[in-house]
Amino acid sequence: MRPEELLALDRAHVWHPYGPMPGVDEPLVVESAAGVRLRLADGVELVDGMSSWWSAIHGYRHPALDEAARRQLDRMSHVMFGGLTHEPAVRLAARLVEITPEPLRHVFLSDSGSVSVEVAVKMCLQYWRSLGRPEKRRLLTWRGGYHGDTFHPMSVCDPEGGMHGLWRGVLPEQVFVDEPPAGATCGGAGPDAAYVARLAEAVERHAGELAAIVVEPRVQGAGGMRFHCGCYLRALRELADAHDVLLVFDEIATGFGRTGDLFAADGAGVAPDVMCVGKALTGGYLSMAATLCTTRVADGISRGAVPVLAHGPTFMGNPLASAVANASLELLLGQDWAGEVRRIEAGLRAGLAPAAEVPGVADVRVLGAIGVVQLDHPVDVAAATKAAVTQGVWLRPFRDLIYTMPPYVTDDDDVARIAAAVVAAAAVG
Ligand code: PLP
Repeated sequence: MRPEELLALDRAHVWHPYGPMPGVDEPLVVESAAGVRLRLADGVELVDGMSSWWSAIHGYRHPALDEAARRQLDRMSHVMFGGLTHEPAVRLAARLVEITPEPLRHVFLSDSGSVSVEVAVKMCLQYWRSLGRPEKRRLLTWRGGYHGDTFHPMSVCDPEGGMHGLWRGVLPEQVFVDEPPAGATCGGAGPDAAYVARLAEAVERHAGELAAIVVEPRVQGAGGMRFHCGCYLRALRELADAHDVLLVFDEIATGFGRTGDLFAADGAGVAPDVMCVGKALTGGYLSMAATLCTTRVADGISRGAVPVLAHGPTFMGNPLASAVANASLELLLGQDWAGEVRRIEAGLRAGLAPAAEVPGVADVRVLGAIGVVQLDHPVDVAAATKAAVTQGVWLRPFRDLIYTMPPYVTDDDDVARIAAAVVAAAAVG
């Protein structure tokens, strides 16, 4: 199909994320992708600064992942998970238990990050129902979060950010507390006492009706690309324990090394009761996510009047996605992934430093393989994207943010190129 024809059909019929209908002529037509490069229909190649929204950590068409998918296709691409089981999913669940914080032992495999958050919330609500405490059904969360686009996840997204403001009055009403003070680390000073007191006051006041505290650990992503110190996660753990509330970490964006720790929970030294992973789980190849919980939570549910977790997506435990996820984890853990993330972090720090001098830039921050330039005004998305594409780089700015989270296989020259494109985009955005 010719690109113009494709774009006309796209505009007429296809919804894009957060897009209008009819659509816009904005999307670039991608023909193929390999390594860290997207190849467009007009032959132009772009270095991918987005890892397809945090997921393609090994880049595209990695031989090990291609091979794992092919091998699995020769056996079965899908089979229902009710009453049946298979090696790819069982191996994956066992591996996830092995590499995530110690008390997480039980795994629910779903098909997207949003659904894994729904499942996490369902686990928490059902746990308290099973224990005869159905009044514990609200969630406490930080402002500025993003947990997905289905209803419970939307209810714990940033209420002011505009993404889901349309649904105010329809969404379950949750308890919001300001996000922790900015800064990837407190430099050993410990958590801000006044902030923790406010947090404690909110948890204490609502504890009787709180099922869980739900947060993104270390990095609030799509709600504003904010970083906070792990000490605030330790404070949350203490408050959750003191007030009989479960703690849920949404590691869908941060999981599998992105922050420099395999999971953000590891770096903070905190284990949640429930944890969600997705995105990079399959190296960005296929749609799969997982919700892990402790034996305490699983046993609590099993003791209830309805002793099953009533959730079962058609594509649960998809063998093809599981096989690729297994290959992706082996690939990641079989190499010095932390060294690669540190190398990218150093490259982003050096490459983004000039952005601090650009008029209109409010902040420049880097954590692991995440680089962020925040403007003091909303980004002109079209102009900023065009500036990056002109430099041969794919970026997708939003709100007041121009940011990158490249694949871990991005070499130093391409990291420098991405950083230069972020700076160029900030200059026109
Ligand atoms: N949670 C976090 C922290 C995310 O960043 C996202 C997606 O960006 C989600 C949940 C939702 O995941 P999905 O888009 O796979 O439904």
